[in-house]
Amino acid sequence: MACLTILEEPDPRLRAVAKPVETFDSDLAMLAKDLTETLHSTSGIGLSAPQVGRSIQLLVMDLSEERNTPEIYINPQIQLTGQRCMVEESCLSLPGLEGVVPRVTAVRVRALDLAGNAFERELQDMHAVCLQHEMDHLAGRLFIDRVSLLHRLYMRGTAALRAAKQRRAA
Ligand code: ZN
Repeated sequence: MACLTILEEPDPRLRAVAKPVETFDSDLAMLAKDLTETLHSTSGIGLSAPQVGRSIQLLVMDLSEERNTPEIYINPQIQLTGQRCMVEESCLSLPGLEGVVPRVTAVRVRALDLAGNAFERELQDMHAVCLQHEMDHLAGRLFIDRVSLLHRLYMRGTAALRAAKQRRAA
C-alpha cells in the first residue's frame, strides 16, 4: 500500500500537458494501484497521474458508494454528447476551493485499459462530469480556469457582503 503525495496549486507540474502512455508494463500497473489507493485515502471521486507528479495520460475514478469500483482510463479521448450544465466542483489539488463550472451531462469515452486494450463507454451525469474534470488535469487545466469571471466576481461580492454584515453585527 503506497499513498502518493497529491500536488497542490501552484505546483507547475499541474500545468504540464501529460504524455500518452506507450508502455503497458508492471510499473504502469503499480502506479495505477498506488493512484487508486491514494484516491481511496481521500474523499475525492477522481485522481489523475499528473496530480501525483507523473505527467502521463492515466486517471482513476471511483463513484461507487462502497468505494470499491475503481475505473482506470489510459489515453482517454472524449466526445461531449450531452447538454450543457453548471456543476459545483472541488479538486484534491485545490483544497478548500469550490466553484461552479460549465460541463456537459454525458460523454462517450474511448480509452485503453492496463493491458493496452481499447474500450468505449458512455457516461452520464456526475460520472461524465468527473471524467471531464480529470481529463482537464491531463491537459494541464484546473477547474478554476473554467469558473467564469462573473462567478468569481459574485464569489468575491458575497464574501465582501458577509464581511460587511459581520462588521455591522460586531
Ligand atoms: Zn482535480
